[in-house]
Formats: sequence, C-alpha cells, structure tokens
Amino acid sequence: MADSIKNKKEKDVIGWFNEVLLKAKVVDFSSVKGFSVYMPYGYMMWEISQKYLDKKFKELGVENVYFPSLIPEHLLAKEEKHIEHFSVEAAWVTMGGDKKLDERLAIRPTSETIIYDSLSNWIKSYRDLPMLLNQWVNIVRWETKETRFFLRGREFLWQEGHCAFRTEEEAEGNALKIVKIYKEFMEEIMAVPAFIGLKSEREKFAGADKSYTLEVFLPGNYASQAATSHVLGTNFSKPFEIKFLNEKNEWEYVHQTSWGISTRTIGVMVLEFGDDKGLVLPPKIAPIQIIIIPILGSRADEKILSESKRIRDELLKLGVRVKLDDDKDSSPGWKFNEYELKGVPMRLEVGEKELLNGELTYKVRFDGEKGVIKLDKLDSIVEKLNLIQSKMLNEQRKKTMSNIKITNNKDEFITGLKERKYILKAAWCGSEKCEDKIEEETSASSRFIPADKEELISDKCIYCGEKARFNAYFAQSF
Ligand SMILES: [Zn+2]
Repeated sequence: MADSIKNKKEKDVIGWFNEVLLKAKVVDFSSVKGFSVYMPYGYMMWEISQKYLDKKFKELGVENVYFPSLIPEHLLAKEEKHIEHFSVEAAWVTMGGDKKLDERLAIRPTSETIIYDSLSNWIKSYRDLPMLLNQWVNIVRWETKETRFFLRGREFLWQEGHCAFRTEEEAEGNALKIVKIYKEFMEEIMAVPAFIGLKSEREKFAGADKSYTLEVFLPGNYASQAATSHVLGTNFSKPFEIKFLNEKNEWEYVHQTSWGISTRTIGVMVLEFGDDKGLVLPPKIAPIQIIIIPILGSRADEKILSESKRIRDELLKLGVRVKLDDDKDSSPGWKFNEYELKGVPMRLEVGEKELLNGELTYKVRFDGEKGVIKLDKLDSIVEKLNLIQSKMLNEQRKKTMSNIKITNNKDEFITGLKERKYILKAAWCGSEKCEDKIEEETSASSRFIPADKEELISDKCIYCGEKARFNAYFAQSF
C-alpha cells in the first residue's frame, strides 16, 4: 500500500493539508523556520502558472525586468504608509561580512521603492510612457503568525508588475485589466471561482489609493486573497520624483499601478479540491495529467509494455503531460493509490483484457468516474481532460455560491461569521473603526466591496448602524 493520508480534511484541515502536501512531495520543510522548499512536483505547478500569466502580461506589452533583492532603508522610507507597514514586516540585512553596514538593507518585501527609484531616471518625457514592467521573484515578509505552506510563509514566489502612465484613467484601466487576468487564471487553470472587488480602507495596500483584490472562498467558509492589483495614484511618483514632460512641455507626475499574484494560489487550489485520499488536481495545473499503469504479470507483458509506450508517445504528441509508470517492483494497486495521492486527474490501465478488446480502462480522480476509451480514439482524451476541468470549476462555483448568505440581521451576521456558517454579505459603512470592532467580535474582516455599483441591502451599516456606503463580503481569513 502507498502511504495513505491519516488526517481527515473535515476534522483537521491544517493537519490534513500539511500531510497531503508532504506525502505528495509538493513541498517540504527547510531548516529555516517559516521558509519552505518547493519540490519538483510543486515547483512545476508554479512553472505552469508562470507560463500562462507571463503570456497574458506580454500580450498587454509588459516587459520582464530584474531588480536587486535588497532595498536600502531610506528608499523604503520615502512613502510614509509604506515604511510604517513594511518596517515591521521586513527582514533586515545589517552586516556585510564581518562589518556592520552604514545603512540597513531590507530583503525585498515588495519592490515598489527600489523600482521607482530607477523609474525616476528612466522616465523623462511622455514618449517614455506607458512603462510596463514586471519581475518574477521571491519576497520575504517576517510573518509572526504561525506559518503555513503556500498560504502564509516568510518567503514566497510571486510576480510583481509595476506600471507608469500619463493619466489616472490609464492606470485605473491597467489595474482592472490585470485583476481580470488573475481571475481568468484562477478559474481557467486552477478551476477555483474567484471574485473581483475592492479592499476596504483598512485592508488596502500600504501606499495605494485603492486595491483591487481577487478573493476566493475556501472550505469551512474561510476566505483568502489570491491576488491584488493596486492603483497607486501619485503617492509614489511624488516622493520619488517620477515626472515627465507632457506634450505642452509641462512637468507632470506619472500615475502608477502595482500588482501581484503568488504561489498562495496553489495552496488555495489544494484546499478547495483535495480529499482524504490526497490531492485532486485540475488537469490544467496538473504536472502529470495522465498516468498510464500497465497491468503486468501475464504472458502478454511484453506486448502490454510496448503498447503502453506507444500510447504514451501518442499522448505526448497530442500535448498531454503524460507519464508511464512501468516499474516492475510495485504492484498496480500500490500505483493506483500513489497517483491518487498525487492528484493525477486521470489514470489509464493497460492489461491483457484491454488489449484484446482494443480499449483502455480509465478512472477520473475528481469524481471517481470509470469507463473505457477505444485505442483508436486516443485523441478523445484531450476532450475528456477539458471536460474534467470545466466540471471541477462548475461544481466548485455551485458550492461557493451556496455558502454566501445575504443578511440584514446583525445577530445572524455575527454568529454566521464567528461560527463560519456562511460567508456574509451585508450593507456596511466602510469605516476602519467599525471593521476593527467586527474583527474583535467575530475574528472576521471585510473581504471585498463589489467593484460595480450595487443596490444597497440596507441603508444602515449591518454592524454599527451608521449610514451604509456599499455592500461588502465578510469572512474569516484562513
Ligand atoms: Zn459600520
């Protein structure tokens, strides 16, 4: 038997999450507390994500760059809210060899300041705009809460886009375009339904005018911020002196955006779909989409093996990520469990019976569906994988929507959040004070405010009774 999962997802989601990720060899602990290792199977999910997103960014004209991983303190301090937030979250380098440095250097917690220092030299005229840059890097934030694989670590992998424009409208348009790309990625590749909205005053990025968020809801009615896209206005261009000469030969400050999506999205997907047997991966993010398992032990072995290889080669030609496990030391039953643990979307069995009938037996990981595929119709497997992908998204969407409760009743709001019975949507005043009190009482915070104007659920705030400004979604953060 393959190593089975002992923790039950329903009973102990964190224990289950760790066990699945370790046993499926997605990640591992390292000797540095709060820093994890991405093993090949896990890193490949990130590579697949990068490939999809990088193409989308480049279609918008975004170019990739690389900036230093260390940021001098005086740069980080140029924007007031930014330093206030990140001085406590950053990891600081204070020594160079055995000499104390004159100035502390932060290991980038995010790169606005070091990049904008350069932009002030690079941007001179309206002809230099828009400037659309992105970098694929790691960042370090000294998390003090208990860390978790993918979801809350001291280091994570992400991309950060940094764009400069002539007008506010262009910047706004860019921030919105990007958060829409993030949504497409989350839904098309990860099969996780995601919501676009705005962060509250309290929750927005330190230094932003406004922050678009891509929010997802998790089992147990938790929420997680999958990605963000910020409209920075001129909050950074003023202290960093990023100015351009317009067509009338007058100096103007640029309008900026910054946006990022991280490896957290992988953790979210694992939480959404995994079960007590292990990972359940949507085909589009799965490092192995099809596992071929030959059923050996008869006189037909040689024929079975050569046929398995032929099938593998044909699927490779169709662009499928396929693996043939022809290891003779482990039994088919062991392999079945192993690849179920690894969440491989579909397995194909090749045995004596199958070859006689000119077909393959298949099993779908997601819903356990079993059936046969004709050997002369192997290309139908591509269609089948697409079908699994859309089925996963649709079922997840149904689940998520059924967990959202619209309310105008304060008691229902409070107990619903406290006990994580629902994700609550209610009319809200939006004040930081009100949000602090909600969090104190329920452990939940506002997740997002719908970006499009909506009719108010009530004209009074669900919690403090003051005038409501918009509707908002509330949930505990994972
Ligand atoms: Zn209020």
